[in-house]
Amino acid sequence: MLETTELQIAAKRSLWGHFSRLSVQQRTEIPIITRGEGAWIYDQHGKRYLDGLSGLFVVQVGHGRPELAEAMAKQSNSLAYFPLWTFGHEPAIELADRLAKLAPGDLNRVFFTTGGSEAVESAWKLAVQYFRAIGQPGRHKVISRNLAYHGTTMGALAITGLPSIKNVFDPILPPAIKAATPYQYRCRDCAHLDRCTLRCADDIEDRILMEGPESVAAVFLEPMQNAGGGFVPPPGYFERAREICDQYGVLLISDEVICAFGRLGEWFGSQRYDYQPDMITFAKGVTSGYAPLGGVIVSDRIAGPFLENDDTSFMHGLTFGGHPVACAVALANLDLFDKLDVLENVRTNMATFDAALAPLNDLPIVGEIRGDGFFRAIELTPDKSTKALFDDAEGKRLLAGLVSPRMWELGLYCRADDRGEPVITLAPPLICGPEEFDFIGNVLHTVLTEASASLRG
Ligand code: PLP
Repeated sequence: MLETTELQIAAKRSLWGHFSRLSVQQRTEIPIITRGEGAWIYDQHGKRYLDGLSGLFVVQVGHGRPELAEAMAKQSNSLAYFPLWTFGHEPAIELADRLAKLAPGDLNRVFFTTGGSEAVESAWKLAVQYFRAIGQPGRHKVISRNLAYHGTTMGALAITGLPSIKNVFDPILPPAIKAATPYQYRCRDCAHLDRCTLRCADDIEDRILMEGPESVAAVFLEPMQNAGGGFVPPPGYFERAREICDQYGVLLISDEVICAFGRLGEWFGSQRYDYQPDMITFAKGVTSGYAPLGGVIVSDRIAGPFLENDDTSFMHGLTFGGHPVACAVALANLDLFDKLDVLENVRTNMATFDAALAPLNDLPIVGEIRGDGFFRAIELTPDKSTKALFDDAEGKRLLAGLVSPRMWELGLYCRADDRGEPVITLAPPLICGPEEFDFIGNVLHTVLTEASASLRG
């Protein structure tokens, strides 16, 4: 094992972190996380932090669970690897069966991947091949929303709606068509009203018509959209989206890479908002992060042409998709969800989370607090009364120069992000309760009071 200083030197020399500023990391200390326990993580100096983002919306049941480590060891000892290419193995079969039972409506069949971007790309490819198989070969385009994040590999990036992480790779082919985000706080149509007009949902129809319905395969929507700042769907949004998709024969794909597995208090986010998707993409929380796994859940309606025709197989596969060890730990993770009654914990404590954050509303820099379940975003503004926007430099200075380092100093790990307007995103492990929420509320109160003062100063 390398000592702390050696680890730091080796990290600077050899590690290329994701979305990390290599140049900055050469001259500043890279935080190195060494262990985790429940909702807390520890760094190389032994200092502890509340994991306010569940790693990356992943560690639903918390860190350091011996049951999950044991399930992985047991599976590694019996069958560490075999592909699902024409074969099956026990953990994948059992897990597919269990997910099919939990999934809403007629969704009953699972195609496994190793993560979320692959799940999104697999769903897109499946939609395209499905339409070819049923004699609608023109349908290949997809629609997604402004600001939405659906992954970073080239196909998933085409669906992602964040210019700041896409433009550097242009041209990305084939790009998804972007529809409006339900963002009432800054909506030109309904920010001044007490209710969303659902113009954002109707925008999906406008895009389909503009492209030509016969060319559109699918619409990708997150139940509650993470990127841009925790957008909860307004009442009626998904009912309208479903209606539009049905009217034009387009598939509705619910990207639940974050929102499944209890984040919103249900197994799936679509259950929380009561809509029936044609496909669900999932990843992250299915294993609580103890191993990488993702997938697409579909119905035999979509599998129909593949079930009926010996010459048609889905032309897609991944060496590690549905890895036996990952599937085994996913099964143990779902057992733990039942044992700890994780969904009920979220349902019971989401109001406690709201209450802990409520005092932040009195601070001048806090524009709006949005969210659901154990998933919140706090949008910051330089002027609450006018909902003014930060200019780029000011927003960056505030987040990178003050908010992020101060939260870290005070022992809170979460995300301060400026991919849309500056927001602080919170998604703590689903085992949290009043004590953890008080901690989060207190740290944020201190940091955002200082941030408010820095604006006036
Ligand atoms: N879809 C959504 C909604 C996500 O939030 C993410 C990642 O955060 C992805 C897809 C991509 O997942 P991954 O990073 O596992 O490729």
